[in-house]
Amino acid sequence: MTKAPPSSAPVIIAGAGPVGLSLAACLAEADLPVLVLEAERQLPTNLRASTFHPPTLDMLDRFGATAKLIAQGLIAPTFQYRDRSGAILGEFDFGQLGDLVRHPYRLQCEQFKLNFALADYLAERPSANIRFGAEVTSVSQSADGVMVALAGGETVAGSYVVGADGSRSAVRQALSIPFEGFTWPEAFLVVSTDFPFEDHLPGLCWVNYFADPEEWFFLLRAPEVWRVMFPAGPQEREADIFDADKIQRRLNRVLPRRESYSVKHTTLYRVHQRVAERYRQGRTFIAGDAAHINNPLGGMGMNGGIHDAFNLGGKMVQVLRGEAPMSLLDRYELERRPVALQYVNEITIRNKRNLETRDPVEQAAFRRMLRETMANPEKNRAFLLRASMLASLGFV
Ligand SMILES: Cc1cc2nc3c(=O)[nH]c(=O)nc-3n(C[C@H](O)[C@H](O)[C@H](O)COP(=O)(O)OP(=O)(O)OC[C@H]3O[C@@H](n4cnc5c(N)ncnc54)[C@H](O)[C@@H]3O)c2cc1C
Repeated sequence: MTKAPPSSAPVIIAGAGPVGLSLAACLAEADLPVLVLEAERQLPTNLRASTFHPPTLDMLDRFGATAKLIAQGLIAPTFQYRDRSGAILGEFDFGQLGDLVRHPYRLQCEQFKLNFALADYLAERPSANIRFGAEVTSVSQSADGVMVALAGGETVAGSYVVGADGSRSAVRQALSIPFEGFTWPEAFLVVSTDFPFEDHLPGLCWVNYFADPEEWFFLLRAPEVWRVMFPAGPQEREADIFDADKIQRRLNRVLPRRESYSVKHTTLYRVHQRVAERYRQGRTFIAGDAAHINNPLGGMGMNGGIHDAFNLGGKMVQVLRGEAPMSLLDRYELERRPVALQYVNEITIRNKRNLETRDPVEQAAFRRMLRETMANPEKNRAFLLRASMLASLGFV
């Protein structure tokens, strides 16, 4: 068995997003040197993911992050599928997974709050550093280590480098790893409003998916606002999508009102389904959005990325401590790439199809599947295992 000698050069992580910081926390917990290089001058606070799944909450618990998220978030034990008339097509309760996880619910909380919680944890660990304003531009490697180049010309030496630098990953591009898949023709418009939908749509949960052949949407509660996500067709011009009257018309299709909705934020996203051809090349790895991106129906992008971080982090700790051979690191791609390719891609594409389909046969099949799943305890549990991402981690 060839074991790597313990190294004092840090593991370099490009990107202080939820994935890079989760990985850094795994390494810092074991007192291993880790350096996070973040291009921005401070932790980004943009509103992106707002859902943490049960296994993710269990994983983050040991860094004190879960308690901080719960204190700032909303516990959502159930989620619903509805149609445009408001009829509930199906309701599912994560509470039924209480024998498997310590947090049997989705937590609705903005992802940047996790970044702050993990940065607090890292600030207490002597072996961890975060450098801001440090944009990684390229990576070179030898059998013994890596050299990471920054914008401005500086280079930094490390034992390994992990690109957790988002969907446009400079690390992935430096290695010329193809990012295969496709881009959806429609963009996704997220409108946030403080209007209390829960007081007007009876029985509403904090997480609700509305199937509709004309315009599907989903309605998610973040701690301070409701976030409504609509598809914006490829034929719509950006200026029209952001037109205030059109946004009001979209919101009125969720719930007609005489008064205007107060709109707090609007953001338009291009959405892709892509998985990198490789997750590892020598001493360089990619994780999170750098390795896989998907549509947000099911809330699996960030969660899956955090699961990558815990998988890779656990293996790196063993290898860097000299407790396992370097070949253990081969298992990271073998274990995590199929999850992105077969599990997250499949579920998120199917979720979108179920909501948008105009085919009456498919619509009927989706509604029948929901009814049968709710009526059958075994099917219900299998459905919850997939929706919570526990199935992707080997839970049955
Ligand atoms: C509208 C929307 C809703 C979503 N909802 C959910 C949800 O509910 N649940 C879910 O699981 N996922 C969701 N996602 C996906 C989720 O936001 C991403 O999967 C998640 O942000 C990925 O985390 P990451 O750390 O891999 O990348 P990022 O969050 O993109 O972080 C990358 C970091 O790297 C930095 N960086 C970039 N380039 C460099 C460089 N060259 N050098 C150094 N640093 C660099 C960036 O500044 C950033 O801080 C949603 C996404 C969108 C757009």
